[in-house]
Amino acid sequence: MKVYKFGGTSVGSPERFRALIPLINDGRLKIVVLSAMAGTTNALVEISGLLGSGDKSGAERMTGQLRSKYHAVVSDLFTSEEWSKRAHDLTDEHFDFISSLISGEPARGTDKMIVARGELISTALLHFFLSEKGIPSLLIPALNFMRVDKDGEPDYFYISENLKRELSAVRDEKIIITQGFICRNVFGETDNLRRGGSDYSATIIGAAIAAEEVQIWTDISGLHNNDPRYVENTRVIRNLSFSEAAELAFFGAKILHPSSINPARMKNIPVRLKNTMEPADDGTLITSETTLEDYTAVAAKDGITSIRIHSDRMLMAYGFMRRIFEVFEAFRTPIDMITTSEVSLSLTIEDPAHLEDIVKSLSSIGQVETDRNQTIICVVGDFRPDRVGSAPEIFEALNEIPVKMISYGGSDHSVSILINTADKITALRALNERLFTQKA
Ligand code: ASP
Ligand code: MG
Repeated sequence: MKVYKFGGTSVGSPERFRALIPLINDGRLKIVVLSAMAGTTNALVEISGLLGSGDKSGAERMTGQLRSKYHAVVSDLFTSEEWSKRAHDLTDEHFDFISSLISGEPARGTDKMIVARGELISTALLHFFLSEKGIPSLLIPALNFMRVDKDGEPDYFYISENLKRELSAVRDEKIIITQGFICRNVFGETDNLRRGGSDYSATIIGAAIAAEEVQIWTDISGLHNNDPRYVENTRVIRNLSFSEAAELAFFGAKILHPSSINPARMKNIPVRLKNTMEPADDGTLITSETTLEDYTAVAAKDGITSIRIHSDRMLMAYGFMRRIFEVFEAFRTPIDMITTSEVSLSLTIEDPAHLEDIVKSLSSIGQVETDRNQTIICVVGDFRPDRVGSAPEIFEALNEIPVKMISYGGSDHSVSILINTADKITALRALNERLFTQKA
């Protein structure tokens, strides 16, 4: 069995809903994991934000706007009176529920319950729409099987046991629909796998049922070897290993949720990135096999802050690193890149929420400098220790750009370079030219 995941734009309008049918109705048994319609989760997050800040009338106003938008979609999508009425009623049920949360007493988990509506509605609409067309499908609620443990990690035992039970209800249906993104937490409350988490849902499900393949459908034919928003003549990467894909997803290729590779890698389940606009295109296939190209792809991640700690007392001393890392641990802030010299250490973080406190604590260890608006450029390729040369083409390409940090040797498949965000586009273009256009 395959798992197909469709993102928000694939169900973003009545036309896109209709276009989905031939893609999933091919007579083969599959699980279809859906996101909320494009824009919905953002709107729901905003509604719960307004509610959280006490602006009940603002929250209710936005809810009303979203409700009307859905009624318009439903009126366009359905042709029969029966299914149209059912879909309008379903829409009202969900929005009435949000309104009741808004007018009710503040309670723990309200925000998560609001945010979950997007996927609950999109999946129900697809189920109704297929029913109207006479195509049998089964809707299985993700909240009946998708669960994370106390660390927020998928609880695979629980998931596969409960998913199996849900799937035992399948009769002649070939299309099994479920929600991406939403889950239950360790307390059994409605929760989610964080923004963009539907990809993660799809690979968790794929791992839980040992799927033949997980297909992530978007609007672009797979992962590109550079960012097509800034660079011309990018190419689709046809084959990629799990590790390479994970690095690319983590370092900015927006097409895939960074955590989503893990479940697939764990159970060795191929992940294919497909394009709803060009379904015949094979897209990108991610498997356990490494491509072993010198250079496979380049990605960039913005919004990085670098922190440099300098201390002469570090010379020949031990225990400094531990003290530095403890500060980040105390403020629950992950470190991405790191380079050291004998008397200084530079590192980067993505989440600057505790920057001030971190800097204050680090000041007792040494002098601290910080730089905001930094970008990590990640070059994915073959950097195994026996590679001959130190990838000179990368540094030739970046000749005209101030390079702030280089991380080489930490990973067999990637090199990371820190630059000012202002230099990003120049860097991406120069790397594309040097690594992929001229023969490296
Ligand atoms: N709807 C959720 C979001 O917008 C999950 C997803 O689309 O993957 O983050
Ligand atoms: Mg996504």
